[in-house]
Amino acid sequence: MNEQYQHRARKRFGQNFLHDAGVIDRILRAIRARAGERLLEIGPGQGALTEGILGSGAQLDVVELDKDLVPILSHKFGHLENFNLHQGDALKFDFGRLQAAPRTLRVVGNLPYNISTPLIFHLLKNASVIQDMHFMLQKEVVERMAAGPGGGDWGRLSIMVQYHCRVEHLFNVGPGAFNPPPKVDSAIVRLVPHETLPYPAKDHRLLERVVREAFNQRRKTLRNTLKALLDAPAIEAAGVDGSLRPEQLDLAAFVRLADQLFEQAPPSVLD
Ligand code: SAM
Repeated sequence: MNEQYQHRARKRFGQNFLHDAGVIDRILRAIRARAGERLLEIGPGQGALTEGILGSGAQLDVVELDKDLVPILSHKFGHLENFNLHQGDALKFDFGRLQAAPRTLRVVGNLPYNISTPLIFHLLKNASVIQDMHFMLQKEVVERMAAGPGGGDWGRLSIMVQYHCRVEHLFNVGPGAFNPPPKVDSAIVRLVPHETLPYPAKDHRLLERVVREAFNQRRKTLRNTLKALLDAPAIEAAGVDGSLRPEQLDLAAFVRLADQLFEQAPPSVLD
């Protein structure tokens, strides 16, 4: 690369650039972008995935926080009609700007691990315009997203992601695929927002509240952890055994608890 466009990876931006051509190809094949589609890439970095996506002919918007990467990305892709660069923080990015039709936007990214969970919660708020999402994440985070009830991985992240999306843990990627190599293993996950929510809550904010409260102390019984929100008869009325621990409940049971709270309608619980 021209010396003018040399870039040193920055830890504070979570920069671990993909350099393994086999892994890049495998990710691109999982995404399968096509001409006529609309994609959004979060954190394009030096363009390891960007190049292949643009090659498909799909329309691609990218959001990159690091200002120093802007000249590199512009130099590589600025002349392409299907490329559109936004410099800024993906956590604050207004998806309305893209004016995507419902269920059309495909979101991809080798995400900076320090912001992956808040970013996914930000994206879930915009789930109605999203067709699917493919992310590289820390392997443990993907395992928590894809987990089922009953084990230590089942928690707030699994429940809130599965409320909105079908989750597929596609494959793992070792540290050697990146430069510099991260200290952890990574994995590719596919998230597909449900066309119709399988367990719609009357108010999803109450579901978030119940789940957060329940898993605050995951070793305690629900009767104990939910005391401030629901009393024992209310838990029973939701068809839930209050002597269970939160990790033993499935998504449907959490939704019943949230709906029970909705029936009681204490507005203060959302404060
Ligand atoms: N996609 C590139 C690749 O695979 O080689 C880079 C991946 S690197 C793990 C994460 C990228 O996200 C970096 O380019 C970093 O500057 C960018 N980034 C970090 N925080 C961001 C944020 N809040 N919004 C947008 N981009 C961010």
